[in-house]
Amino acid sequence: MSQIFGPVPSRRLGFSLGIDPIPFKTCTLDCIYCQLGRTTHKTVERKEYVHSNQILKELEKFLKEKKKIDYITFSGSGEPTLNSNIRKMITEIKKMTSIPIAILTNGTLLSHSQVREDLLEADLVIPSLDAISEKVFKEVNRPHPLLKIDEVISGIINFSKEFKGKIWLEIMLVKRINDSLKEMRKVAEIIKEMKLNKIQLNTVIRPPAENFAQALNIKDLERIRGILGKEKCEIIAKFEGNRQKAYKKDIEEEILRTLKRRPLTVEDLSSFLGLHQNEVIKYITVLEEKEKIKSQFHRGQRYYEKILEN
Ligand code: SF4
Repeated sequence: MSQIFGPVPSRRLGFSLGIDPIPFKTCTLDCIYCQLGRTTHKTVERKEYVHSNQILKELEKFLKEKKKIDYITFSGSGEPTLNSNIRKMITEIKKMTSIPIAILTNGTLLSHSQVREDLLEADLVIPSLDAISEKVFKEVNRPHPLLKIDEVISGIINFSKEFKGKIWLEIMLVKRINDSLKEMRKVAEIIKEMKLNKIQLNTVIRPPAENFAQALNIKDLERIRGILGKEKCEIIAKFEGNRQKAYKKDIEEEILRTLKRRPLTVEDLSSFLGLHQNEVIKYITVLEEKEKIKSQFHRGQRYYEKILEN
């Protein structure tokens, strides 16, 4: 499986070429809303999970194809800062191209000065922060036992002061889990200490790891936006526009043919089709919207199946 995927049209980044430096679901958290399902390898250990030379070689080849790319984005199937060679990769990519580099991170390792230093050369960092109190942190993000929310928050504050690029803070809101007025007022206080370019409110749009993780409606999102300050805070609207441009009908049909035979997880579909999980998720989202497939939980995994026509 390739570690480079896309370019995929992204809500925030235009055409984003993804780099996945981590094996599937290797993460410091196990968020109840995770679109990739439950975390199978919860860890805070940093190492070279995927060899940086392999990624750089693949990227160099890819860049020769001269496709439209707005950002090269470290993201994918887990927490990218767990790869201990992320700094080397950023530095080497900067030598290859002037395309800006974005890092999508859950922010939990920014409490380590080494991780903060590793990201300094990136252009845009998008850390998440879904909770302020330890109780809500545990409920929504189900963190590794060594992580403490106060340290995570201090890490993001420190990084925001040291980093010269742009920082967009993402807050993922889950109905009745982390959207209380009390929690949001605490968030509003804490973010005053961070140097942020934007605050982005998101909610559960794609199928979550847990069925009880429900989306907020637009009215509730607007109310929270009001609490956090409308100048910098935006609601990430559901992405529709460009999605169709990278959407291939034959892949859709192949997914439907495959799911007609037996129910499969995103991971199964990804290895079967040779597509990155994030790409598979885009098709799955469209097919669910069209009511062509449905999903159900079985032994902690979400399985997709085709809805049979009468
Ligand atoms: S949403 Fe991101 S941070 Fe949370 S478990 Fe999934 S990959 Fe990890």
